Amino acid sequence: MATPMSASRFLDVLRDEGITVVQVGDWRTHNRNHKGPWGPVHGVMIHHTVTSGTSKTVRICRDGYPGLPGPLCHGVIAKSGTIHLVGYGRANHAGMGDDDVLRAVIAERALPRDNEANTDGNRHFYGFECENLGDGEDPWPKAQLEAIERASAAICRHHGWNSRSVIGHLEWQPGKIDPRGFSMNTMRARIHERLQ
Ligand SMILES: [Zn+2]
Repeated sequence: MATPMSASRFLDVLRDEGITVVQVGDWRTHNRNHKGPWGPVHGVMIHHTVTSGTSKTVRICRDGYPGLPGPLCHGVIAKSGTIHLVGYGRANHAGMGDDDVLRAVIAERALPRDNEANTDGNRHFYGFECENLGDGEDPWPKAQLEAIERASAAICRHHGWNSRSVIGHLEWQPGKIDPRGFSMNTMRARIHERLQ
């Protein structure tokens, strides 16, 4: 359980972890806080966008689309590894998920299988959307995977969390498949190493 860090601190911890960051428009105040609570935060959630092309991907994640207003995450992790900050605060990324999973994240223990969508995740997770088609064929460049590792570790470091505080959308909400193309267990092992 933790209070969300400030937008300025969020920017700082990402840069301190060696990430190249692009600030998009009024990202610090672009959020969905008028629609519900933001915090306490318990973890980090990783997604894929099902888009291609960084500028289009960033635009969609900032603005959203009909039926799902943006921001759709806090940071967009491009194939280059650059992170584009599109929003800060409550964002439409996690949706409803499994309260048993949330309890496991809070306790930093092994995740149960997600089989319910009964809990608001937008309130409790930092979110990163990664530029990828999500078809299992679109490659995940080394630089992009490293940025996922660094960004997740940066947030964990700030809050005193371990790698079990980082989950994929597919581990949160039944029916979701993202991120597809790498294993969250492997990514958590990388984050664990980085936090040593
Ligand atoms: Zn997702």
